[in-house]
Amino acid sequence: MEQINIMIAGPRGRMGSEAVKLAAGTEHFNLVAVLDHKHDGMMLSDIEGFQSIHNVPIYTDIEKCLQNVQADVLIDLTTPEFGMLHAKTALSYNVRPVVGTTGFSKENLEELERLCKEKELGCIIAPNFAIGAVLMMKFSQLAAKYFRDVEIIELHHDKKLDAPSGTAVKTAEMISAVREAKKQGHANEKETITGARGAEFDGMHIHSVRLPGLIAHQQVLFGSDGQTLTIRHDSYNRESFMSGVKVAVETVMKHNSFVYGLENILD
Ligand code: NAP
Repeated sequence: MEQINIMIAGPRGRMGSEAVKLAAGTEHFNLVAVLDHKHDGMMLSDIEGFQSIHNVPIYTDIEKCLQNVQADVLIDLTTPEFGMLHAKTALSYNVRPVVGTTGFSKENLEELERLCKEKELGCIIAPNFAIGAVLMMKFSQLAAKYFRDVEIIELHHDKKLDAPSGTAVKTAEMISAVREAKKQGHANEKETITGARGAEFDGMHIHSVRLPGLIAHQQVLFGSDGQTLTIRHDSYNRESFMSGVKVAVETVMKHNSFVYGLENILD
């Protein structure tokens, strides 16, 4: 397999550190640099936990990084604000972004799609890299053809910054594309405590749970006369996302367009 030169933004993070392990441990992946907002000028091996990963420079400035290293793919696992800046800058240097960072707005996604078109470059934005989660979304979309009433409950660790999760939004979008429009709940329902019914998306409701001990979980509950259907996925560790990151990196090298959602690249 052809070697793929990779740079990773957010290498000390919970997801980023797993991606570093993936890049360092995959034969046809070559980790050429990491982008951090700390430790400029140091090597990754100077950081605790990465002592065995040699010859990988740390940059704080993405422009400087892209000018100094030959990268094919940028993996971004940071925050929406920096993820957007990183993805746009990478594309301007003909580097293909694979973005796991969540919390991008519709406008962000449209802007990246436009840039990809202009540059004729691939870019993959995946709110969830876990293959099981992608199946959970696909199964939910299938069920929504038959069940109009649905509530999405997403559960995450309490360090998560955005709510609802990117996966919940993506699930709602996929359901919305096939579901007969309906404003759910009682026509006269009233919240006695604000937020009790969760966030509303196209007449459906999304509930966000944040608790220590959780990683990333989602339950999609469908109801109709006399029956309910529950579709649930659980990620118990961040390794669960890495097979999806690997597929995305390999695929983005073959794509010359914008892809939103791992389900669009899985056979
Ligand atoms: P995290 O542990 O907080 O990691 C984020 C890392 O990014 C931190 O090390 C942070 O450094 C670093 N960072 C912040 N600004 C930066 C910048 N300008 N340049 C370089 N690095 C920067 O968060 P996480 O749990 O790994 O999650 C990261 C993102 O991935 C979130 O958006 C999360 O929702 C998303 N996520 C996606 C998936 C998926 O499957 N797609 C799965 C889980 C999580 P400091 O700590 O020093 O600020």
